[in-house]
Amino acid sequence: MKRVALPCGETVPALGQGTWQLGDDRGQRAEEIAALRRGIDLGLTLLDTAEMYGDGRSESLVGEAIAGRRDEVFIVSKVYPHNASRRAMPRSCEASLKRLGIETIDLYLLHWEGSVPIAETVQAFEALQRAGKIRHWGVSNLDAEAMQTLWETPGGAAAQTDQVLYNLGRRGIEWDLGPWLRERRVALMAYSPIEQGRLLQQRTLAEFARERAMTPAQAALAWLLAQDGVIAIPKTGNRSRLEENAGALAQTLSPADLEALDRLFPPPKGPSPLAMI
Ligand code: NAP
Repeated sequence: MKRVALPCGETVPALGQGTWQLGDDRGQRAEEIAALRRGIDLGLTLLDTAEMYGDGRSESLVGEAIAGRRDEVFIVSKVYPHNASRRAMPRSCEASLKRLGIETIDLYLLHWEGSVPIAETVQAFEALQRAGKIRHWGVSNLDAEAMQTLWETPGGAAAQTDQVLYNLGRRGIEWDLGPWLRERRVALMAYSPIEQGRLLQQRTLAEFARERAMTPAQAALAWLLAQDGVIAIPKTGNRSRLEENAGALAQTLSPADLEALDRLFPPPKGPSPLAMI
């Protein structure tokens, strides 16, 4: 398993598992838990969730999937912006810990920027760290300008990651945010790495993948895995698709393959607002 170093020095798998919408359909629950567990078996031990997902249902499902396996996994969860204050964050964190059935969240993220001043959010993260409720913290959906502001905030440079929308069809961050993060060795966590499945419908990607004996999902994920400092967190609640996605780890794209993908999915030619889903 390729690993990515966080600024704190710890490493995490470059391919993890997303969990948005897992736990929403009771009929799928057993298969979703089996898929998460299969992923852990295959080394996809970074699990990304959030208090928002299904109003806590995803965290509860993750809790069930990791029961008895706490030491094998690296748990990422997120706090709503309106709960990212000194007063509300401890309650949110406690509720997440309870649903997850764990003592400490490995990496706790601000889900997106809201009205709570970022300096207060940083202080709230620091208090949770001191209390042993979280080990590390980071952010999500912050553009380069917001990251710079965070960096100028006392304690703000302790952020371990910025989790943003990034896939072959959404390359805008390569203009500014990507280089900004790389320079500071902050990990980039790529969410919706297959654009919620829509990328797989693109004929050009399907042809590219077929010519190289891989699936479109594997091509899209292998492209992310080829980059330094990038962690991809595809979501699936299905064991066979999980195994297909994990197969991306065995696919190496050559420099010629990467150039071909640049022609099919061109990098940005200028700045653009940060895209979000
Ligand atoms: P995604 O991972 O790009 O795509 C997930 C969708 O693709 C699901 O519908 C899944 O269906 C399907 N899928 C997965 N593998 C497949 C395959 N090999 N072949 C065909 N279909 C496949 O989208 P995402 O869930 O939006 O993003 C991933 C994770 O990032 C989320 O789960 C969440 O943890 C995180 N996220 C964070 C933010 C944020 O604001 N920070 C925003 C969005 C997402 P099945 O489950 O049926 O396989």
